[in-house]
Amino acid sequence: MKYLIITTFMAVMYSCTAQEQNKNSAEVKIKIEKSEAEWKSALTPEQYYVLREKGTERPHTGEYDLFFEDGIYHCAGCEAPLFESDSKFDAHCGWPSFDQAISDSSIIERLDKSHGMIRTEIVCANCGGHLGHVFNDGPTNTGLRYCVNSISLGFEKEDEKRDEK
Ligand SMILES: [Zn+2]
Repeated sequence: MKYLIITTFMAVMYSCTAQEQNKNSAEVKIKIEKSEAEWKSALTPEQYYVLREKGTERPHTGEYDLFFEDGIYHCAGCEAPLFESDSKFDAHCGWPSFDQAISDSSIIERLDKSHGMIRTEIVCANCGGHLGHVFNDGPTNTGLRYCVNSISLGFEKEDEKRDEK
């Protein structure tokens, strides 16, 4: 009996470690799987281009570029929370910029070698939607700059959240 308990304990320990190693890597299982046709009907053409085809909106055109209200930004593809307004700053680059994600598990990072550059793509961990890129030149204490397309985001105001409680 004692042996069984120890074995079970070790199996649990091992599975926790394995999950930890997979965090933020490309092997993480995306929770929402939809066909391209389903995504096309669920999203606007602009959202589909950015979220599913890894497009980039033109700088200084996005709804949340110069937008600094208190609340939570979520994924436009699946509504999963991604960033808090406290982490948003004006990077003068033309896209909404944040210095950290809302949690360690909300965003997945992937190596992106497209367009002759080596960058780190960021995607929604829940639906795999393309958000933008993260850079190591952030001006705050995290040193990170999550450069995100406005069109990949939705916003929920702080007051609206309180009203629901
Ligand atoms: Zn999503």
